[in-house]
Amino acid sequence: MIDLKNMTIDELEKFFLDIGETKYRAKQVFRWIYRGITNFDDMTDIKKDLRQKLKNMAFISNLQIAKKVVSSEDGTAKYLFLLDDENIVEGVAIKYSFGNTSCISTQVGCNMRCSFCASGIGGKVRNLKASEMVDEVLIMNKDYGKISNIVLMGSGEPFDNYDEVMKFIKIVNNPFGMGIGVRHITISTCGIVPKIYKFADEGLGVNLSISLHAPTDDLRSQLMPINKVYPIKDLIDACRYYIDKTHRRITFEYSLIKSVNDSYDMSLKLSNLLKGLLCHVNLIPVNYVSEIGYEKADNEKIMAFKNVLERSGITCTVRRELGSDIDAACGQLRRKYLAGRVK
Ligand code: SF4
Repeated sequence: MIDLKNMTIDELEKFFLDIGETKYRAKQVFRWIYRGITNFDDMTDIKKDLRQKLKNMAFISNLQIAKKVVSSEDGTAKYLFLLDDENIVEGVAIKYSFGNTSCISTQVGCNMRCSFCASGIGGKVRNLKASEMVDEVLIMNKDYGKISNIVLMGSGEPFDNYDEVMKFIKIVNNPFGMGIGVRHITISTCGIVPKIYKFADEGLGVNLSISLHAPTDDLRSQLMPINKVYPIKDLIDACRYYIDKTHRRITFEYSLIKSVNDSYDMSLKLSNLLKGLLCHVNLIPVNYVSEIGYEKADNEKIMAFKNVLERSGITCTVRRELGSDIDAACGQLRRKYLAGRVK
């Protein structure tokens, strides 16, 4: 059986041509899928015999919500989605003044093992299919309210699941589907350098965000093992290529961890590293994860760090802490849920 939700519009057109139907059927079915319909009998503008034909050879996949918690502080909602094979992934829906944003997972677990992240603790279980990523957004769109922005910052490294992520972008961007503009989609990577070059060459116009978290190789390799494979110089060279090619600004994510990467010296080193690049820095007070034990930097340190960057002409924001009452750090809720399930 073929999952029609896992197809781009081009693939769906080919599918209908291959079964002796017109291309136009693809647009009709695509529209129904992104209105949340999963039963062919509900597709009222498709003739009955074609609906029956589709039922015999295809299906439309559909994730389930295993758990949902909503922050009483700011309305942020965290979802655990149950996949067909009983695996669990997280998604988060956040209210901003410019609209609702959904933060989705791209893999079950993650192999990158960043030391501050709960998602990396158990390693990668498997890649998500494009349809599963699409469903995370569709479900939040239906349950939480219209989603206008998507960030690929949940569990998983998007560039370690490159082809399915590119397919996901094509699907959610299509005007017959959800029609979410590429400028409203952000991919965050821990720094898989060859994929940054490849992504720059795609010419998609999607926003790129780099998880940097340290300005020196020594410290970054301790925090993020990927740095041993692709050190900072190679990463920044790839970022320069991306900026030259796309003329788009890159965002660097920097989680501030108390007494680890929040010193004055680190802020100077970061300023020197990024000076002159078309970029923005997002400073993130790190979320506490019990298995890891990092603490977030003090507020004065965060503001001092920000000042140093701004004095070098680097634009910089401090990320609002959202959903701190609902285990909002990447991977935390899933780990707790799984621990409860196996008891
Ligand atoms: S921060 Fe991202 S890349 Fe690093 S382990 Fe967590 S999910 Fe993976």
